[in-house]
Amino acid sequence: MSYVTAQHLTKRFGDNTVFEDVAFSIEQGEFITLLGPSGCGKSTLLRSLAGLNPVDGGIIKVDGEDITHLSPQQRGIGMVFQSYALFPNMTVQGNIAFGLKMKKLSADVVEREVAKVIELVDLTGKEKHYPHQLSGGQRQRVALARALVVKPRILLLDEPLSALDAKIRKHLRQQIRDIQKEMNLTTIFVTHDQEEAMIMSDRIFLMNKGEIVQAGTPEEIYTHPANEFVAGFMGHYN
Ligand code: ADP
Ligand code: MG
Repeated sequence: MSYVTAQHLTKRFGDNTVFEDVAFSIEQGEFITLLGPSGCGKSTLLRSLAGLNPVDGGIIKVDGEDITHLSPQQRGIGMVFQSYALFPNMTVQGNIAFGLKMKKLSADVVEREVAKVIELVDLTGKEKHYPHQLSGGQRQRVALARALVVKPRILLLDEPLSALDAKIRKHLRQQIRDIQKEMNLTTIFVTHDQEEAMIMSDRIFLMNKGEIVQAGTPEEIYTHPANEFVAGFMGHYN
């Protein structure tokens, strides 16, 4: 059985059905990109997996466990958003340690775990800095460290690079991928950027209007588009 499985997932906001009867499965350690045009439901689907948008129907399992009705904290999921949701009045260290607050660990253990992820995301020397003293890329690395410090079973990334300029974006793509591989961390990465999806993913789930219209390796999707939408959407990439 796959590490993550979703079946019959449905989400509505009032009369607006964002997705209906969505299904997929993901293997442990896979890097999946949820790719699709703006408004197609990527963020809503990701937030549903995280427990931030409870689904109206369907079932989500991780490692055989039904997590559909668990709270976000119970799911063992780390999430990073597009905009740096850091606490402005806390240092880098404080922001990252905040992720461990719920766990009631000793100060020693917190310090050690925080130091480990600071090194992992390459922020050594910035421990005492405040968010306003950091670049956009550095802030996103703090957000990533905060998601990683709790040792999540799954990492969810919602357009974490979209607000950054091109050079930093390329560097961070590689860094995220390196860390993800090193930790063998099952990851779902949301983007509307075809190039990013082609470069980074083990597999792409291409979404349109609330449906996963094709799932496959970047090469499969690019060379064997399942329909006109896929061909057109991937055709913009060159
Ligand atoms: P994407 O991330 O692919 O751009 P979203 O998941 O943000 O798409 O949005 C998909 C649809 O869900 C849109 O029609 C959007 O208006 C709607 N939607 C998203 N979040 C909410 C919300 N909290 N309340 C009402 N409608 C929402
Ligand atoms: Mg979105």
